[in-house]
Amino acid sequence: MMSVQDEQLKNQLEVLRKGFVSRLPDRVAALEAQLTQWASQATEGALEEFHRGAHSLTGAAATYGCMAISKAARALEQHLKSLKGRAEAVAQHLEATEGLLKEVRQALDAPDAQHEPAPADASAKKKTFALRPTPSRTRSRSIYLLERSLNAEKELREHLQHFGYQVSAFVDSEALQAQLAEAAPAAVLADVEAWRDLDEPIDLAHESDTAESGIPLIFICERPSFELRLEAVRMRGRYLFVKPFVVERIVDALDSITDHDDEKRYRVLVVDDHQPQAEHSATVLRHAGMEVRVVIDPIDTLVAIEDFMPELILMDVYMPRCNGMELAAIIRQQPEYVGIPIVFLSTETDRSVQLVALGQGGDDFLTKPIQPLNLIESVAIRARRYRVLRTLMVCDSLTGLFNHTKILDALATETARSARNGREFCFAMLDLDHFKQINDSYGHGVGDNVIKSLSRLLQQRLRKSDVIGRYGGEEFAVVMPDTSLENGERVMNEIRNTFCKLMQQAGDKSFTVSFSCGVTSMRPGMEAGDLREQADARLYLAKNNGRNLVVGMQAATAAE
Ligand code: GH3
Ligand code: MG
Ligand code: MG
Repeated sequence: MMSVQDEQLKNQLEVLRKGFVSRLPDRVAALEAQLTQWASQATEGALEEFHRGAHSLTGAAATYGCMAISKAARALEQHLKSLKGRAEAVAQHLEATEGLLKEVRQALDAPDAQHEPAPADASAKKKTFALRPTPSRTRSRSIYLLERSLNAEKELREHLQHFGYQVSAFVDSEALQAQLAEAAPAAVLADVEAWRDLDEPIDLAHESDTAESGIPLIFICERPSFELRLEAVRMRGRYLFVKPFVVERIVDALDSITDHDDEKRYRVLVVDDHQPQAEHSATVLRHAGMEVRVVIDPIDTLVAIEDFMPELILMDVYMPRCNGMELAAIIRQQPEYVGIPIVFLSTETDRSVQLVALGQGGDDFLTKPIQPLNLIESVAIRARRYRVLRTLMVCDSLTGLFNHTKILDALATETARSARNGREFCFAMLDLDHFKQINDSYGHGVGDNVIKSLSRLLQQRLRKSDVIGRYGGEEFAVVMPDTSLENGERVMNEIRNTFCKLMQQAGDKSFTVSFSCGVTSMRPGMEAGDLREQADARLYLAKNNGRNLVVGMQAATAAE
């Protein structure tokens, strides 16, 4: 069955194909002009241009399903390639060349040049675009909880709510089923036995309106036996959590399910001097939900990289002035671009040329024509990997927040911007209170969970435009653009208020932790270092004045 979206892509590609086909006679005429040019000049330059023309027609014709033309163009292309270095001997090769070009012209009238689209392979059809990320609407944070008895999991429910999840509890299948029909949650959390003993089994794959794999199911249980674990797996539970719960772990699981980062569209830069080819790739990738920018002149590539920050570059090999291999080498010479995946897309089937291209810093070599699904998959896999690696490079591994260097970079950037536009912004530093005691009493692992819980709370409560970093062990820093000192202090106080009431867990014991915070804001003439010192001084004041405190406005009015 073809879905509506597949149909849409088919139609878009069909429009492109028709445009390409209608220009085919012009393209063949251009080849004929290139032959005349070479015949009169007998230079390597003229031969090379002719060769490039034949090469790009080979690839584009194959991409658009004009196989007879592609085949004829390939024969011509290979012939011209073999003449490289002997451009002056035109007379000797003219007849053979004209013959091959004539075959290209004749192929214009071949039945397949009436131009059936390339047949999609069956498996591609079946899976087409399963890779498309959910449209960019943010996923819900609503959770349905199936309990064994009413309020059996009251504590868990409250805890999850602290972390920004809306939890609706159910005890019977009818009510849960009715709610599922109403709206799909981000996940279902269920007691294994309660789920097994439902009057009416529920198929979450069917209840889901979007995801291919259905609504994620997470199990909880009291006493796990091997049989129960096996049952949980067979009922397709993604996780099984055992009492007493380490709620942080459940939140981790839910966060990974509702992770917004996955939903950000991959940014792909397509570099191809041949417009129809570039448009074809761009259309296919955009259809899979990616953000695509096209560069036709390779000279524009560096500016486009800086501006667009692609997560993958899809590149043609044969381009005028600067070929793909050279362009890859140029990109790789800039340390900050060393990691961006470069994937070549070319008609080049010569393995030795492919290896040279890969040696210049390419990551993969795809040959035209390529099925849309294969293109999407190759691109998505590498872009995803790059995104993960980048996150590891700039982010703290425990919390996923920016690391020390990156948060200071963000502070410097914001200071410069504020100096330009005169807008106030806030910088806050936070430090957990008596944290050493937590580690000493409950162990380092429990301490780590406390650090994560604060990091999560900050991520949930602050705005998207705010930048959060882990400044040091149990210290955090936050940059809040366009925020007055008064507002910055108020927000940090709200977070402090929630955090100090959060029940932290250590086995079956629970406890609370607080933090102290210094907030400062940018005033004219200040530099990043001044802001840092001031925030630190105010944090120190908060510690000295009893902890579990935010110091900001008041300190600003008193002399420091
Ligand atoms: P204060 O209220 O004055 O800030 O007291 P404190 O105990 O929090 O401050 P101190 O600087 O004496 O101790 C900080 C502790 O934080 C010591 C260190 O072992 C712990 N810590 C730092 N990084 C980590 C971490 O990544 N994980 C854990 N579990 N503990 C950490
Ligand atoms: Mg400290
Ligand atoms: Mg501390």
